[in-house]
Amino acid sequence: MKSIKIFAPATVANLSCGFDVLGCCLDTIGDEMIISITEEPGVKITKIEGADLPFETHKNVAGVAVESFLSAYGKDIGVTIEIYKKIKAGSGIGSSAASSAGAVWAINHLLGNPFTPQKLVEFAMQGEKLASGNAHADNVAPALLGGFTLVRSYSPLDIIKLHSPKDLVMTVIHPQIEVKTSDSRSVIKHNVTLKKAIQQWGNVGGLVAGLFTEDYDLIGRSLEDVIIEPLRSILIPEFDTVKKAAIQKGALGAGISGSGPSIFALSKGMKTANDVADTIKDIYSKTGIDFDIHISKINDQGVKIIN
Ligand code: ADP
Repeated sequence: MKSIKIFAPATVANLSCGFDVLGCCLDTIGDEMIISITEEPGVKITKIEGADLPFETHKNVAGVAVESFLSAYGKDIGVTIEIYKKIKAGSGIGSSAASSAGAVWAINHLLGNPFTPQKLVEFAMQGEKLASGNAHADNVAPALLGGFTLVRSYSPLDIIKLHSPKDLVMTVIHPQIEVKTSDSRSVIKHNVTLKKAIQQWGNVGGLVAGLFTEDYDLIGRSLEDVIIEPLRSILIPEFDTVKKAAIQKGALGAGISGSGPSIFALSKGMKTANDVADTIKDIYSKTGIDFDIHISKINDQGVKIIN
């Protein structure tokens, strides 16, 4: 039996202007998984700790992603999956994506890497489809490729790994409230005005250029979302206060992580990221809502082997 233990990272999707296309990978928060190849064919989830999630292969995103991998691989091998969950489901920092991406990355590694990371994104997206009804790639792509990623196109799938300036640090607050995916989807409008579209794609271009040239001010100016954030932020208590305070403390920008309720702030340097965390803590402590705060450098590697 061949076996591997991995770290399956949390991710921040959208990054304000890049709804469904931009994302980045975190380093200090993620799940652990043990994936094994067994003699008896079939995919089995043998252990889940830290969360109440289904063991049935077709109901767990890790199982669905591995089934998708195996049907492309074409050989009937046996796989067992153990999941040690640290990322809370529905937090907006890619809980389901970590399981899908981690599982397919590990099985690919155990089989001698028959597929490219880009191809693995396709398999992991099947897990995302189970979790949210939508096969989006903005969490699984950064989890698998590391750093910042852009989904240039969904059809055909075209994933681009961007550059990660080394001083960038994320501060993420996860308020422990439930925002139903159906609610966070239902507030989104399906048509946008040309004026807003121009602002949005200007910002996406600016953010990508800022990452490659390590222009931190440009990164900050580009972290603006005129389409989704104004509608979704009303579901997150103290969103405007947190965003304003984070920027006042020196963050380059702040926004909703994925579909929320987590809020991210991106800073240059660890000191600013820590100051931002302290300010956000002060604001949220007064609300009576439980919360977690994570501070993380950008993980340029993605899923990785651990002992
Ligand atoms: P996040 O908001 O952190 O991105 P998601 O909303 O993407 O998390 O995923 C959470 C949903 O996926 C929940 O409904 C959960 O029950 C389901 N799910 C199924 N399998 C898993 C898994 N292995 N890990 C996390 N969530 C899973």
